[in-house]
Amino acid sequence: MHERSDKKKRPTAVALLSGGLDSTLAILVLLRQGIDVKAITFLTHFGCDISDSSSCSRNPLPAAERFGFEVKLCHLADKFLEIVKNPKFGHGKNMNPCIDCRILMLKEAKTYMELIGADFLVTGEVLGQRPMSQRRECFPMIDREAGVEGLVLRPLSAKLLPPTIPEQKGLVDREKLYAFKGRTRKPQMALAESLGLDDYPSPAGGCLLTEPTYATRLRDLLEYNPDPELKEIHLLRVGRHFRLSPQCKTVVGRNKEENEKILSFAGKDDILMKVPGVGSPITILSGTPMESDILLAASITARYSDAKRLRIVTVQVFRLDGQLYSLEVEPASDDMLERYRIQYIEKRKHTPSKDKILIRQGTS
Ligand code: SF4
Repeated sequence: MHERSDKKKRPTAVALLSGGLDSTLAILVLLRQGIDVKAITFLTHFGCDISDSSSCSRNPLPAAERFGFEVKLCHLADKFLEIVKNPKFGHGKNMNPCIDCRILMLKEAKTYMELIGADFLVTGEVLGQRPMSQRRECFPMIDREAGVEGLVLRPLSAKLLPPTIPEQKGLVDREKLYAFKGRTRKPQMALAESLGLDDYPSPAGGCLLTEPTYATRLRDLLEYNPDPELKEIHLLRVGRHFRLSPQCKTVVGRNKEENEKILSFAGKDDILMKVPGVGSPITILSGTPMESDILLAASITARYSDAKRLRIVTVQVFRLDGQLYSLEVEPASDDMLERYRIQYIEKRKHTPSKDKILIRQGTS
């Protein structure tokens, strides 16, 4: 006997999965309704590393394996860097272009949805949970900009939002969706318990772009070099950062692990420094250093080495393929460090204008 060709296909959804509690719950709620879910996890140069267990994001693959859904990893690479540099809807409190980010992710998810013939998109967004992109008026605007109006189901807040196309078509039972809102996580935790989800990360505040110190470093980098190399972006995560001149900055490792990371990011032409024979940071110069920048970086390297109390310290200047030369310098004074350090400073509450400034003295 032939199988009937008009056999009803199970509805399929593409779900945006961060690995956090809400996006995982959104998927489980749909799986419980018999909907086939294909998850997509976006990676950027500014997110948490999902392969790092100490990171605020969790690797989504174990949850996928446990609950039986597929996950596709998709790196947004330069497309994401572009919206960080020029967000149509602006940055949030720091360098986070949350609205543009949601739009980009939905656009990419739509392409995947069309590719695999899925019916609609799913996110774990909760109304009012995040200030920038999860306000009621934002959802329709974001969906419109991404070209996915009516196609994005937000199961955790669906009952507070207008019915979407999959609900209208009866692909999803709206009655079995939720009306969560605000910043409390209690309803999600109760739902997780009822669905057997007992291992999830504590809430993450967002990607690295939401961190004031990281955002200050990135702002400085883009100001002096609008087209940074990937290694310069990776370096923003480690070390102490100093802007030596408009054409050169330096990064100084704070411990063995950071020293190793700096060496791993270095290219064959990069100038590196260390103080031989004692505990010493590895320092890297990026940009096009002048002689004065090299001397300054050597002095800062000496200051953070175990030889910092000596009047004169010998600093080795080298590239990955071998030593170049040595310099004799005085360790930098505290004043000098503060003068060149790229740092976020929060001003006191009564300050009338902006509450943060980027310190860049010594760059003219
Ligand atoms: S916090 Fe970062 S990853 Fe999250 S929406 Fe904002 S820009 Fe995108």
